[in-house]
Amino acid sequence: MSAVEIHARLTPGFDQRLADALDRLKRATAAHAGRIVQATSLGAEDMVVTDLVARHRLGIAIATLQTGKLHAETLALIPSIRARYGIDVEVWEPRAETVVQFVRSHGERAMYESVALRKNCCAIRKLEPLSRMLNDRSAWITGMRREQSAQRSDVPFDEVDDAGRTKFNPLADWSQADVWHYIQAFEVPYNALHDRFFPSIGCEPCTRAIALGEDVRAGRWWWESEGAKECGLHVHASAETTSSTLADIRFNPKVPA
Ligand code: SF4
Repeated sequence: MSAVEIHARLTPGFDQRLADALDRLKRATAAHAGRIVQATSLGAEDMVVTDLVARHRLGIAIATLQTGKLHAETLALIPSIRARYGIDVEVWEPRAETVVQFVRSHGERAMYESVALRKNCCAIRKLEPLSRMLNDRSAWITGMRREQSAQRSDVPFDEVDDAGRTKFNPLADWSQADVWHYIQAFEVPYNALHDRFFPSIGCEPCTRAIALGEDVRAGRWWWESEGAKECGLHVHASAETTSSTLADIRFNPKVPA
């Protein structure tokens, strides 16, 4: 069965949640004209946001982080978005010399050795290029939902990140059924891995399929304890443990972690 067949369901209030999400995106665009970007992971929620942006011709740039560790199925969505919507996706990559230095020092499997090394890898491959993506922007948009995990249960519709930018989470109150109902109704392209029980998709070494009944983010960094399982993109600095090695990495410390 496909992810659409498993999850798509029209539930009470969907039309209102959709109208509210679109309204939030329109107001965000008006408030941050020319300086707003959707930072997409190319997951199901982010594809819904991209479809809303394209369908309603909102002036929001679409950008993604190419960590160098993504699945081929994830990368395939970049040309799919271009073909479907006529939109170019900005692709932001980590600094090659920093990646080479990290891998030379700690190996390709460093993320499995300790939480600190895993977070260092995320800092190099995600946080630093994100800081450049957001550099000249005053706002960004994510596809985060409260239902995704305990860590995300209080995700607001908008918030101010550690660098003072506004971060909008227009799908914060959507359910998994809402996301997949939208994808089905509007025939949104999505990652083929979702049909193989990958509800949340990150880098290839750090993502696995989940079993029925598991939390939707159970397949992310599955070897770590629940509390550690964010990459830093959506964690405020005050809540983040900073390792000494992290301090050696050259990136804007004001990056929204
Ligand atoms: S998710 Fe894994 S591979 Fe990707 S940046 Fe983080 S630790 Fe590295």
